Amino acid sequence: MEIVHIAAECYPVAKVGGLGDVVGALPKYQNELGHTAKVVMPMYRTKFLYDNQWELVHEGSQQIGTHQFHYSIIKEKTNQLGFDLYLIDINGVLDREKVYGYEDDTERFLAFQVAVCDWINRWTHRPDVIHCHDHHTGLIPFLVKYAIALKENLKDIPTVFTIHNAQYQGWMSWDKYALLPAFDNWKWGMLDWNDMINPMAAAVKSAWRVTTVSQSYLQELYQKANGLEQLFLEERQKCSGILNGIDTKVWNPATDEMIVKTYDKKTVAKGKLKNKKELAEKFGLDIDKPLISFIGRLVEEKAADLLPEAISQSIYEHNGQVNFLVLGSGHTGIENQFKKMNQQFKGYFNSYIGYSEPLSHLIYAGSDFLLMPSRVEPCGLNQMYALRYGTVPMVRSIGGLKDTVKDMGEKEGFGIRFNHATVQEITYAVGRAIDLHQHRTEQFDWMRGFMMAIDHSWDSSAQQYIDVYQSLQKK
Ligand code: ADP
Repeated sequence: MEIVHIAAECYPVAKVGGLGDVVGALPKYQNELGHTAKVVMPMYRTKFLYDNQWELVHEGSQQIGTHQFHYSIIKEKTNQLGFDLYLIDINGVLDREKVYGYEDDTERFLAFQVAVCDWINRWTHRPDVIHCHDHHTGLIPFLVKYAIALKENLKDIPTVFTIHNAQYQGWMSWDKYALLPAFDNWKWGMLDWNDMINPMAAAVKSAWRVTTVSQSYLQELYQKANGLEQLFLEERQKCSGILNGIDTKVWNPATDEMIVKTYDKKTVAKGKLKNKKELAEKFGLDIDKPLISFIGRLVEEKAADLLPEAISQSIYEHNGQVNFLVLGSGHTGIENQFKKMNQQFKGYFNSYIGYSEPLSHLIYAGSDFLLMPSRVEPCGLNQMYALRYGTVPMVRSIGGLKDTVKDMGEKEGFGIRFNHATVQEITYAVGRAIDLHQHRTEQFDWMRGFMMAIDHSWDSSAQQYIDVYQSLQKK
């Protein structure tokens, strides 16, 4: 099958979070299964662009509203990522360093989607499926069905929409209506949710199939979906959950070039200690104490706002028997609190405010525990990376965290779970972590070996997506 993935992120070209990891891995595994999966994304000005070789494959022009724009499409020449990668350039619109966070993001992703559709419309053949990821591509399932210029050619191509995060929906007010390409006017309701144009809702309504990145997350969306609960209930027939995998080639402690000492199941204790030593030296921490780390966006979804108090309280309540390390960026208020704590809790806590892929690998390798108290977690990749690196996940029982971590109190349990995102529950979980690390070494060692052997590779999930595509071919 020929599958076209369309997304705003793709690792290692441009990544902000889990979406990038998934789009950078899933197509590779689908190709290994004998299919032809490709990725189309915006051409941001990132390092990957300058470090690689490209060929021009198409140029065209389109318009949003009265603004005419020219676009060009380049393809990476050497199939470096294990799939064909296409970047769309639109001067003055997509040629930025960052993926998101610009005032004109609405127009940027609208122009991107219009250009992608125009390009596919000009192919001499049709792909077997168009697979869109998150709201930045949410208008595409609508446009291929109802846009006047596209529908004749494209309306029969099955579209699949994967929700990596339903918190962000790409809302725009109806005064942006004029920016959209002409479509069957009576279909305007397909774009609407609560009197706004809502690209995520449009995708859920228009796509042939909708998937979420874990089964528990889909169940949660029926009750809590940032306003879309009723829509998910109405469309439940076409929704299913497929758990993300991890790229076991990129995330492998036995070969990882970003860590100080590589290790496997047999050498985990020694290997992790060397990496922990590096972290302890870098961040002024105590190698003998359990190290609990957090990696992620400093936003409420991840309950990062609770961390300053939970960490301070844990240090006091557990008499300084524990060290903490945070890697992340996000809300300035939270960032500033961490910066202050770097001084206040020297020797017990440290943080690196920013984004660093190499440091994240070192932290997965060198930490004893990885804390994820998330309020919302559609799948969560961090805990799966932690498992692979023999780092005990401490997670709130929600979404994908619930589907991938079993509490150590259960038979063959290998993690620490808690039910609520509160300072009290985090502090209590920290107590359990200290106890495990200091007094139950045998169990701790067993857990490490056990979790490292768990298979979260993409092999099975990549096939599940293929099954979804195949079920649509007969329609
Ligand atoms: P989300 O997509 O909601 O941010 P996920 O758990 O799905 O969360 O994916 C997060 C990904 O982003 C992981 O690969 C994680 O290691 C990475 N990540 C998050 N913040 C940082 C950071 N500050 N530096 C490096 N990597 C980060």
